[in-house]
Amino acid sequence: MSSPDFVIKNALWRGEAHDLCVADGKVLELRPASGEGYGDAPVVDASGLVLLPALIDVHTHLREPGFEWKEDIATGLSAAAHGGFGSVMCMANTDPVNDNAAVTERMLDRAREAFPGGGPRLFPVGALSVGLAGHELAPMGELAAAGCRAVSNDGMPVANSELFRHAVEYAADFGLTVIDHCEDPHMALGVGVNEGAISSRLGLKGQPTVAESLQVARDVLLAEYLGLPIHIAHVSCRESVELIARAKERGVRVTAETCPHYLLLTEDAVEGYDTAAKVNPPLRTMDHVQVMREALRTGVIDMLATDHAPHAAHEKEVPFTQAPNGISGLDTALCVTMGLVDEGVLSLDDLVRAWATAPAKAFGLPVCAFAPGDPADFTLYDPSASWVVSPQTMHSKGRNTPLLGRTMPGRTAFLYVNGKRVV
Ligand SMILES: [Zn+2]
Repeated sequence: MSSPDFVIKNALWRGEAHDLCVADGKVLELRPASGEGYGDAPVVDASGLVLLPALIDVHTHLREPGFEWKEDIATGLSAAAHGGFGSVMCMANTDPVNDNAAVTERMLDRAREAFPGGGPRLFPVGALSVGLAGHELAPMGELAAAGCRAVSNDGMPVANSELFRHAVEYAADFGLTVIDHCEDPHMALGVGVNEGAISSRLGLKGQPTVAESLQVARDVLLAEYLGLPIHIAHVSCRESVELIARAKERGVRVTAETCPHYLLLTEDAVEGYDTAAKVNPPLRTMDHVQVMREALRTGVIDMLATDHAPHAAHEKEVPFTQAPNGISGLDTALCVTMGLVDEGVLSLDDLVRAWATAPAKAFGLPVCAFAPGDPADFTLYDPSASWVVSPQTMHSKGRNTPLLGRTMPGRTAFLYVNGKRVV
């Protein structure tokens, strides 16, 4: 073995102490801890810390340009880094919309300025249609050349199936994957509460699960007909899972994500008209939560994503119907899912697949599997460092989360990207 630039000693990998040797920003070797020295190489003692690949978030809203009071690229990437994420895909619903290379390049410039020595990797998601208006396809070749890996009209679902079909075909020409926010826009109307007992009691118009699954059905049928990939964003309900499972059995090129909040919280969280729990698609019932957990465990749902949607306090401190949808998720995502590992809902291998290997495969992103030559992108998680979610402990500008006041079971102690320490 050539000599490492530095060594992480005694980190817990699959429950056993390991030493990780890093050189030139890459993994040199991961091997069982031996107690022997590594020459002059600096050593980081990681005793008691859990080693994970740096997480990849394929669905984040960073709000810059245009909505910097909610979040900007520097604060968003800082929240990502402290949450254990080494790569982030940010959505196009900025102002101006990311539907051209100038906006993509500006986002990438801002990421470089925020972390001059190298920070979390940013992969902007281009708009699927010009201005997200759903009328005219965005210039996808230009977006791909500028650094986008995917296109999406997230937040503004495309109801026009003819336009959507052409988007899927056009994206494939440039190696881009379409990410679809599945929602019948007439049936859903962004109301942010599940149709059921709670919506009735609160006197709010509810959003039925079928508003989501109708569009999932369209997308899997289209992916099958065209033989092209479609990635389905933030799946929240049983009916969508069943459609995706059956499509995968037929070999349809469909992938899907869900978010930590759909694995943890139910519609009960909106009781008292709590706008912090207003999210789109809405939080569902425990029956759906159980289905989402099982679907993630079995791989029907390929991956996790935060759908990090930060808003300023004053924007959420309004009547429920007027509040914007969204939960600020980057700070808490890894902790919530590590909590599910602690409870036995997920295994650590499920978590690594859902937060790293599956997203990397679906979108062609770099990932660390700790094989020699892999990028040294890794997180060291301290399971003994519990913390309480509060405006003071979050790094995102958006403190809009129904988890405020909850104790998280551990915290990111270190994050390295390309062998460089970021946290
Ligand atoms: Zn969405």
